[in-house]
Amino acid sequence: MCALAAGQRGRRVLVIEHANRCGKKILMSGGGRCNFTNTGTSPANFLSANPHFCKSALARYTPAHFIAMVERHGIAYHEKELGQLFCDESSKLIVKMLLDECAAAGVRIETSCGVDKVATAAGGYRVQTARGNFDAPSLVIASGGLSIPSMGASGFGYEIARQFGHTVLPTRAGLVPLTLSGKHQENYADLAGVALPVSARCGKAQFDNAMLITHRGLSGPSILQISSYWEPGKELLLDLLPQHDIEAFLFERQAAQPGAELKTVLGDVLPKRFAQRLCEVWFTNKPMRQFVHAEIRAMAKLLAHWPIVASGTEGYRTAEVTLGGVDTDGLSSSTMASKLSPGLFFIGEVADVTGHLGGYNFQWAWASGQAAGHAA
Ligand SMILES: Cc1cc2nc3c(=O)[nH]c(=O)nc-3n(C[C@H](O)[C@H](O)[C@H](O)COP(=O)(O)OP(=O)(O)OC[C@H]3O[C@@H](n4cnc5c(N)ncnc54)[C@H](O)[C@@H]3O)c2cc1C
Repeated sequence: MCALAAGQRGRRVLVIEHANRCGKKILMSGGGRCNFTNTGTSPANFLSANPHFCKSALARYTPAHFIAMVERHGIAYHEKELGQLFCDESSKLIVKMLLDECAAAGVRIETSCGVDKVATAAGGYRVQTARGNFDAPSLVIASGGLSIPSMGASGFGYEIARQFGHTVLPTRAGLVPLTLSGKHQENYADLAGVALPVSARCGKAQFDNAMLITHRGLSGPSILQISSYWEPGKELLLDLLPQHDIEAFLFERQAAQPGAELKTVLGDVLPKRFAQRLCEVWFTNKPMRQFVHAEIRAMAKLLAHWPIVASGTEGYRTAEVTLGGVDTDGLSSSTMASKLSPGLFFIGEVADVTGHLGGYNFQWAWASGQAAGHAA
């Protein structure tokens, strides 16, 4: 995105990519259909040490701008849910669109081209690669984060940032499944594949969406979202019945079906195997008439504030994003330019701006790329 924007301005642009093709994460994104933006994008959808930093770029290159490009290229798309736009056919079309735009703007692309070293040179930077040295007045680092090392992710961008005096904020995996261990894992493991809507909360963050039980822990959109806010030691709570006033529901069933067992009653509003497990491990399964009011109130409270003791996350191997990164204090929010080294830029995931699940990370990549592409 940055290359095509700079190329359209008449700049001579070279993209250096160490993988054998461009846009591998685009290709694998959204289950192969690329959730390329979110129509509801706002700065509130991003985590950063400076929550204001992303505002300028996001305001100047909006989802509507990207959608216009997608439509110009005749790519069919649809909204899945919550403003998330996906290709009808394939992520390949998004990569092709960007490559076609780059070609039209005269951008040169070198793939399978590793960078050995970056140094300052007269009037700019020298990038040393296996294919020789390239000198340029502007150098844009768009090397992404640490997620999915098997796809070419590396800490390269952070090294360059440090080399030129930038602070790199601690990085960790985000939008990632959580792992459980010991009895916490044993209690759920054989329910792998069971999914239910929950409201996941950590501090002030809250996400209402599906949770999926896995062999090693918990996943699904609500868990991926909350994982970006969770760190070991932080309390993580689930409302297992977010669409119900559970206390009222249990009292109502007690009155209407006093002979029904708890597991049957809970099985009406939760997946049956999950309801049964709750009754085996945490509650006592007995006819509703045998519960005193205090027991029902305590059960309702627990179901609405279910504590999850996560042992960790699945890490960068499966994480969709990397939290932290190049401190935005050292960057201009309107151009992504380094405040320390003129002509150096950091865009996309390498910077300390991380979106929620749902197309926001690509929107940040497009918007920050455009911002730098108009200045580099
Ligand atoms: C499985 C998965 C699914 C995702 N799905 C979505 C989604 O549907 N919607 C969404 O908004 N976000 C999604 N994301 C997040 C999104 O892919 C990233 O936030 C986005 O790609 C970041 O863009 P970027 O250009 O900053 O970095 P990247 O897309 O990671 O690109 C960085 C590029 O730099 C190259 N590179 C790295 N080091 C070097 C080096 N030393 N020399 C040369 N080249 C180098 C890499 O090979 C790569 O091509 C997903 C992520 C994953 C892992």
